[in-house]
Amino acid sequence: MEFCNVQNNIKLVDLSATFCVGMPKYKAKWYPEFSYKEIAPQALVNNEWKRRFTVVSMFAHNGTHVETSDHVFKDGYTLGKTNLEEFIAHPVIIDLTDISNGVSIEAEDILKRIENRKIEERSIILLKTGYDDRAWGKDYFWDKSPWLDAEAAKVVANLKPRIVGIDFQTEKPNEKNFIVHKTLASAGCIICEYLFNLDKINEEFLFMALPIKMPELESAPVRAVGLLIK
Ligand SMILES: [Zn+2]
Repeated sequence: MEFCNVQNNIKLVDLSATFCVGMPKYKAKWYPEFSYKEIAPQALVNNEWKRRFTVVSMFAHNGTHVETSDHVFKDGYTLGKTNLEEFIAHPVIIDLTDISNGVSIEAEDILKRIENRKIEERSIILLKTGYDDRAWGKDYFWDKSPWLDAEAAKVVANLKPRIVGIDFQTEKPNEKNFIVHKTLASAGCIICEYLFNLDKINEEFLFMALPIKMPELESAPVRAVGLLIK
């Protein structure tokens, strides 16, 4: 595990996807790829030293990102209606790592893991399967994810979380009706998609996923981290 030790009392675990050319992107034709190109303004060329200027083409849903109800509802709200404080908290981690690839996560799977727990409303709930860690970049990634079935999504939504972070695909592979997105968004919940390394944090860590400041948008990339201050 790569801990940042710039300050000895801080442990930082990176929970984010890496942006790079050729990174996984959803297989729909319209789905943009991450790319960048360097520009060399005429006024700046022919210098002996280097100045690098890169234009980035970043789709808000390419890597680890958060999304608000404006993603799925005509009357939804955008990131501008959120507070930065909402994106940091000690998380509630629901361990689903025994769920296999390509299997639905059912209401019972969630209920039995939280039966002895008191989960406060407006929590940050992380659903941990390990799928992104084991399958990201693999041929089968888009087809073999576990997924929340409709009833399981309702169970999670009924906990009234402010953020649900997941490390598998939000919808059943190839499902186009966005059932889980709509169920969670209806409960006022922000979704954080494509998380990694959830096995390297626990609930003593602060989970933090601050979106790039683009208030007009439905989604923004985040650098998600687990932060432990000893
Ligand atoms: Zn998204």
